[in-house]
Amino acid sequence: MILLLFGPPGCGKGTQATSLAEKFRIPAISTGEMFRAECKAGTELGKQASAIMQAGGLVGDDIVNGIVASRISRPDCKNGFLLDGYPRTVPQAQNFAKLLAERGLPEPVVIHLDVPDSTLVARLTARRQCPKCLKIYNLQSQRPRTAGYCDDDGSGLLTREDDQESVIRDRLYAYSRLTGPILEWYGYARVHTVDGAQAPALVARLIEEAVIEATGTIPVAARY
Ligand code: AMP
Repeated sequence: MILLLFGPPGCGKGTQATSLAEKFRIPAISTGEMFRAECKAGTELGKQASAIMQAGGLVGDDIVNGIVASRISRPDCKNGFLLDGYPRTVPQAQNFAKLLAERGLPEPVVIHLDVPDSTLVARLTARRQCPKCLKIYNLQSQRPRTAGYCDDDGSGLLTREDDQESVIRDRLYAYSRLTGPILEWYGYARVHTVDGAQAPALVARLIEEAVIEATGTIPVAARY
């Protein structure tokens, strides 16, 4: 099973990706997290990506295609995987389709989380993340038990550098300009659109139903 989770920054992709990965026992791969890890490790790739990310732009297609091709070759992807944040441009989608065909892998299930811009800006400026376990919190809707600290490991929560309002606007613009057309490229008939402005548990259920309908696979948690 190959799942692609689409939607603008702040639509809840990260939260939904984690829960889907657990339910369907597949790894959730976030290209954004991969780049943040490279930046933190101070690698050459991290240095290149860091300036682009801070400005709210997109890392070059060739670089992203390369890291995804190598990541999905790892053994944990043999029963499928979920991609969060890739493909993000039509050329990336074309490259990914070619890659799947070359490797004899099934066509992906395309899930689109739809959320209005005003909700996204409010959500993103309130978003905090644990730098250690990467768990995401929201000061409006998913507060940590102790203000400012991760529930799971007690680390101090941080605001991502690209969650400043001016950068958010640039990221939403990049999304609408480059990523929106991907849904057109896949064809709306193939895309499962879910209203992502609803409560996270309801969004999770709607996505799960769409995946079951598309693949016939029942999530592990629902088998007993
Ligand atoms: P995200 O965590 O998915 O919002 O990604 C954070 C940042 O990483 C984005 O704003 C981009 O700069 C970069 N990035 C992540 N995925 C991609 C991608 N598929 N193509 C280009 N840039 C990406």
